Amino acid sequence: MISFAGVGKSFGDNHVLRELDLSVAEGEKVSIIGPSGSGKTTILRLLMTLEGPDSGLVQVDGETLWDCRSGSAVDARKQSEVRRKIGMVFQHFNLFPHMTVLDNVTLSPVRVLGMGKEEARQRAVELLQLVGLDSHLSHKPGQLSGGQQQRVAIARALAMRPKVMLFDEVTSALDPELIGEVLSVIRDLANTTSMTMLLVTHEMRFAEEISDRVLMFDSGAVVESGPPHQIFETPQHERTQRFLKAVL
Ligand code: ADP
Repeated sequence: MISFAGVGKSFGDNHVLRELDLSVAEGEKVSIIGPSGSGKTTILRLLMTLEGPDSGLVQVDGETLWDCRSGSAVDARKQSEVRRKIGMVFQHFNLFPHMTVLDNVTLSPVRVLGMGKEEARQRAVELLQLVGLDSHLSHKPGQLSGGQQQRVAIARALAMRPKVMLFDEVTSALDPELIGEVLSVIRDLANTTSMTMLLVTHEMRFAEEISDRVLMFDSGAVVESGPPHQIFETPQHERTQRFLKAVL
């Protein structure tokens, strides 16, 4: 479902990704762990087309999102079609502050997918039920807690019916007591849907619990990859051992 082949990305002299090879199977739930600044978020931003790579090939669902090898750019319309298969939840919610919860969730399905307003509304109410916020339809984001806002952001991403969901440190900006409610929504999604999920997270226990596979990332490359019990109980690489010792 997701494939990176020989992907490089630099910001000036900062080589953030180095010849990255990475693939995620359809339906797989994969967590990326590793130190800050190692390039984890950049992987998600390339998938969202918020950044472009300098080298290599990125494909989603068998279709090309970025191809630096051919010398010609991927057709912009094609790229946005591929990009639409992906939903992302950011660290800082990024809800539209002037719009109600319901409008935040219905806006893109109506504008981008051309869904009828009533259908979009019904679907939004279902999704807000799923995240436990169907009694807050007419609230504005500023009237909600951080955990509630993040759950709206999850419903908003799901409303686009993505095949792939990306989660970028979605609990990092939350007060500790609000983290559980957001992780619980993501855990339910992981357990009940066949969506492919790629998560960047600092929540090690959560990654261990919900992932099929964990990738340890450092200095722009995967240093170790395996099932959660292997990475967390018997890490092989010295860098993984050192990282886990520091964070657990
Ligand atoms: P992580 O998610 O592992 O913390 P990031 O992918 O966010 O790492 O960042 C990797 C490196 O790239 C960092 O050194 C960061 O400062 C740099 N970086 C990320 N985005 C940009 C940007 N838009 N411009 C310049 N440098 C950036």
